[in-house]
Amino acid sequence: METKEAQPIQLISLVVPFYNESAVIDAFFREVPKVLASIDYSDYEIVCVNDGSKDDTLAQLSAAARLNARIKVVDLSRNFGKEAAMTAGIDIATGDAVIPFDADLQDPPELIPDLVRKWRDGHDVVVARRIERSTDTFAKRQTATLFYRFHNIIADVKIPENAGDFRLMSRQAVEALKRLPENRRFMKGLFAWIGFQPAYVDYARRPRIAGKTKFSGWRLWNFALEGITSFSTLPLRIWTYIGTLSALTSMLYALYLVVRTIAHGRDVPGYASIITAVLFLGGVQLIGIGVIGEYVGRIYVESKRRPVYIVRSVFQASGGDE
Ligand code: UDP
Ligand code: MG
Repeated sequence: METKEAQPIQLISLVVPFYNESAVIDAFFREVPKVLASIDYSDYEIVCVNDGSKDDTLAQLSAAARLNARIKVVDLSRNFGKEAAMTAGIDIATGDAVIPFDADLQDPPELIPDLVRKWRDGHDVVVARRIERSTDTFAKRQTATLFYRFHNIIADVKIPENAGDFRLMSRQAVEALKRLPENRRFMKGLFAWIGFQPAYVDYARRPRIAGKTKFSGWRLWNFALEGITSFSTLPLRIWTYIGTLSALTSMLYALYLVVRTIAHGRDVPGYASIITAVLFLGGVQLIGIGVIGEYVGRIYVESKRRPVYIVRSVFQASGGDE
């Protein structure tokens, strides 16, 4: 890349959460530092967050950090989940640009120089967009599409379809992100919420190089619920409309009954319609209470104001901090 002389050195931080990733660490450190070192006018740091792994991930990360002072290891006190681990890494990263990145190399590291180039062209946020994700299972792709459609219909802040967490954020964007105080962090939504008119770079998502995914069907379902309840109150508000509609309908029906009784006299039958109405309304009310419960639960968790994560230790070989 040709640039003007005397360009200042910029620090690029890669933030990588690791949860039981023992099988991929070798390959990760074989590939990634090489790519980062090749970017002109820049230095790099790799913030590795050990998210309470139960295998030897931490030992391997520490070993790698002893050999390379640009590697920082942040050890969390237990498994807090990917969103919290990423938050920890982003808080600790000091770079002019910060890039969240998966440990399993599903996102190609070769794309990082492209992200940096667009950032230097003046974009505060550069999102890596998956144009092709045939490496994910059919079911995962379908449910992901469905989730994005549904989320974007009901949420005020749209999240770009096919964008994961892989992106570059300028220092300014990172500082904006850090100002969001919520405890339950649905990062894709928070990333979108800060705005900054992202630029895009397209790529094809690769299969995991080793190990297996940490997100099972049930975990993904809960993740989707988290996303929707974090960024929309429509599920709550909709009950006002459903309630109004059913109240209006029953009023009309009552009116009809009065008129009919005056015209034709009283009749006894009607058990079927009564029990149907009772069961239907009972069901509707239970769903409504369930949705309210979901939000009350969120308020409860947020109101405790617990920290998002707890750091047990941070390790970096000397000579690394500049
Ligand atoms: N991860 C984490 N904590 C968790 C689950 C996952 O830090 O509780 C990390 C994991 O080590 C990996 C990234 O999040 O670096 C993405 O996880 P994975 O590849 O399993 O998700 P997928 O790509 O299948 O969506
Ligand atoms: Mg993965």
